[in-house]
Amino acid sequence: MKHLLSTKDLSRDEAVQILDLAEDMAQAGTREVKKLPALRGRTVVNLFFEDSTRTKISFEAAAKRLSADVINFTAKGSSVSKGESLKDTAQTLAAIGADGVVIRHHSSGAPRVLAQSGWIDAGVVNAGDGTHEHPTQGLLDAFTMRKRLHGDASRGRALDGVTVTIVGDILHSRVARSNVWLLETLGAEVTLVAPATLLPVGVDTWPVAVGYDLDAAVAAKPDVLMMLRIQSERMNAAFFPTAREYSRQWGFDDERLARLPAASLVMHPGPMNRGLEISSGAADSARSTIIEQVANGVSIRMAVLYLLLAGGAA
Ligand code: ASP
Repeated sequence: MKHLLSTKDLSRDEAVQILDLAEDMAQAGTREVKKLPALRGRTVVNLFFEDSTRTKISFEAAAKRLSADVINFTAKGSSVSKGESLKDTAQTLAAIGADGVVIRHHSSGAPRVLAQSGWIDAGVVNAGDGTHEHPTQGLLDAFTMRKRLHGDASRGRALDGVTVTIVGDILHSRVARSNVWLLETLGAEVTLVAPATLLPVGVDTWPVAVGYDLDAAVAAKPDVLMMLRIQSERMNAAFFPTAREYSRQWGFDDERLARLPAASLVMHPGPMNRGLEISSGAADSARSTIIEQVANGVSIRMAVLYLLLAGGAA
């Protein structure tokens, strides 16, 4: 694997291999000295054109735990805000000697342009591009599901027959897209639930079932309920009447939590709008995996950087 641009590009074996490798990385993280020497002498650049908290520090922690040198490049305050193009930035990074580039960009497809441009010969990891994809988020979500549902028997397994319901702003969500493609590859059954205005055109061609009623979705007892953030920053129109109306119909609140089976998982990629798509009671409940998702993200990103940059299988 040279780049990770989309979960669509992963075969089932490759996906399971990444999840297994992340298990090894998680185990290494429990040792007193967390650092592994695997990427000593390699340089990873975090190239962030769009805001991020957890993804950026997660990639930074992952690269540092593998002993890589990390350079953080944020568009704000750089020459990008003076109009420098992606090409010029990429050529600068090539001249510095970057072996890996972790890129977040507001334009869907920017990571693929970078990977295929020839401007730089580095492994490229998509850390979120527009509304397109966020593959390491999909992988860390699958890892979290597998760990919670299969426990110690996780290794080597996929997610066959696991029912996952993804709720909310599907239209603007790269997390939803990366999850849908990966979960299908891993054998899970996905249902999307959203107001019709927040479903993308063409969703009928996706490998999912679609519903509009959160109460019916809860009554169907899914193994996993994944709530998505309302992405106001990508909305240029009114997609629902009011925030209150949205949370009444599509918010996962304490009352709906009480109706969800005790064994079902409640997930959210963060950052959360508490009180809008999810209540604090649900977010902080024992069924919530939200903090685990963040911790697992580091293990997944270590696995991905290792596979791309250490050159080869585990
Ligand atoms: N952090 C995730 C992303 O960057 C989800 C979100 O922002 O709602 O796509």
